[in-house]
This record gives sequence, structure tokens and C-alpha cells, in this order.
Amino acid sequence: MPKLRQNPVTGDWVVIAPERAKRPDDYILPKPVSKKKTLEFCNFCENGEAYNERIEGAGTKNVYVVDNKYPTFVSKEAIILDAGKIYYSQKSIGAHEVIVLKKHEKDLEEIPVSEIDELFNVYQKRITFHKKNPIIEDVMPIHNHGAEAGESIEHPHSQFFASSVIPNNILKELTGAEKFYRDEKKCIFCEIIKEEKRIGQRMVTENEDFVAFCAYAARVPFEMWILPKKHLENFDQLNSASRFQLAKIFQETLLKLYKGLNDPPYNFFLHDNLCQKNHSAGFYHWHLEIMPRLSRFGGYELGSGVIIDVVSPERSAEFLRKVKV
Ligand SMILES: [Zn+2]
Ligand SMILES: [Zn+2]
Ligand SMILES: [Zn+2]
Repeated sequence: MPKLRQNPVTGDWVVIAPERAKRPDDYILPKPVSKKKTLEFCNFCENGEAYNERIEGAGTKNVYVVDNKYPTFVSKEAIILDAGKIYYSQKSIGAHEVIVLKKHEKDLEEIPVSEIDELFNVYQKRITFHKKNPIIEDVMPIHNHGAEAGESIEHPHSQFFASSVIPNNILKELTGAEKFYRDEKKCIFCEIIKEEKRIGQRMVTENEDFVAFCAYAARVPFEMWILPKKHLENFDQLNSASRFQLAKIFQETLLKLYKGLNDPPYNFFLHDNLCQKNHSAGFYHWHLEIMPRLSRFGGYELGSGVIIDVVSPERSAEFLRKVKV
């Protein structure tokens, strides 16, 4: 039977309808032809155009940062606004950067854990940098892997968005988490961790400092959340020892996807709360969300905003737990 499930943070509904499809292993892709990527001229490689314009002091040994050539958010206020009686627009102020891993031919599951740690370190550095700007309301590092996930340049890279508005999904999370905190005097994310550990059915893996599990109201098959066990509001508060634990569990989850499903396309994004200046602190808990892109949305999803997921998170988790990495 299909089941409606509600995301405990945002209040969003999803329908888990496994009888419409499929078993988790129906999503295993044909074996990837070769992991060797084409090494023709690439702007992101050393001495390419992007590399030569990298932001001084923003990167680490194996990771550099450059402004996005076609930014979504800009620092200059040169945008003409249109508005009317009911229409409202606002300047798209902020920053949009590209965070590039120097090695062209290796994906995140193949590089040393220390280099994933460097990538997260650069996320932290960019968050710390941009949140000093009083106009910035949100920061969000994201990563696209595979063409179906919106990757346009095959050289591995993340993108960093800093915006002067709180994005829709973050606003929903902040509102929901704040309400829960007001009503229950507890952090909703800490409660989610407790509940996932108690139930165990959706757990994928854990280590000293982190848990990775399939989300209760997953929007897509194999959607995973990674949360720090210790309540921590901001990602840039994470110390280097814990950050290394994060790099480890993160690579383990990617390897499970890679080996279990044969290199599926995916997106991941980091949700952080920058808005202490506007929102009372205490109720938010940063986290990573990983969304494999193995299903497509149809008209009902677009029309209703209610997503139908045809693999239950419990079966997704069971499948991923069994993948040896
Ligand atoms: Zn390259
Ligand atoms: Zn918490
Ligand atoms: Zn989130």
C-alpha cells in the first residue's frame, strides 16, 4: 500500500509507493565503461583559464576556488529590477564560486580521504569568509556528479552559493526546526538521530561522530542524510578531527552508491544556518543531504509539490548496508 509520509523538519509530504515499481536492485545501472576520463584540454586543469584565475588564499594543496563565470548571485549591483503592482523582484546579490579538485580524472570516491577533508575544509573557509558580509543570509556548497545531475564540466568540482535571501528549502527547515524547538525544547535533528538509531531500519552506516541513514520521507530512491551526532549549528564550527570523520563516512556512502549501483548520478548539498543574526540560535543542526538521480519527476510532482518515491527508504538502506566497501 502507498503511504504518505511527512518530513519531520519541513512538513513536506511524500508518497512512498513501492508497488509502483521496483526493488532497489532495479536501479543498478549497467557497468560504467571506464572511469578514465578524457583528458583533452580542460579549463579547470592546472594552467587552464579557471585555474589561472583562482582566488588567492581560498584553497588548499589539492583544491582551489574560482568565481563562477556565469554566476547566479553577483557582488555588483548592476541588475535592472522589474516590478509592478503585484510582481516583486530583488537583486540577486551574493557570490557564486566554483570549488575545484585539482585532479581531473578521479571522482570523490577514488581520491584519498585527506583530499575530501580538504574539500570540506575549503567549504568551511568560504562559509567563514562570506558570512562576514552582512548582506549574506545563506551559504550552500553543492556538488553535481553525472550529466543527469546537472554536471556540465566533467572535471570534479563543487559550487558554492552565497545569497542575500534565505532559499525556500532552508526557510522551511528553519521554520520547522524553530517551531519544534519552541514546542519541545529540543533540536529536531538530534531527535531524528535518536529515532533512526533506535529503529535502525534506515541506518546505512555510522562512525564516531556521524550517522548516515536513508531519510524517512525520502524524495528519491537512496536519498541519504549525514548528520553530526553532536549538536552543532554551523558547519564551520566543526573541528578538524571531526571533519576527517565526516570525510570518511561521506566517502563510504559514496562508495556504497558507486559499487552498489554502478556510479549513479547524484547531487549533494550542505545545509547550514547562517542566520543567527536573524534567528535565535539553538534549534538548527547542519547536515549533508545526498540525492541520487535515478528517478524523474512527473506532472503530479510538479503540480502538487508532493514527490512519489517508488523505493521505500527501508529497502534502500537495507540494500546499501549490504554493499561492501
Ligand atoms: Zn580538468
Ligand atoms: Zn541538534
Ligand atoms: Zn536539509
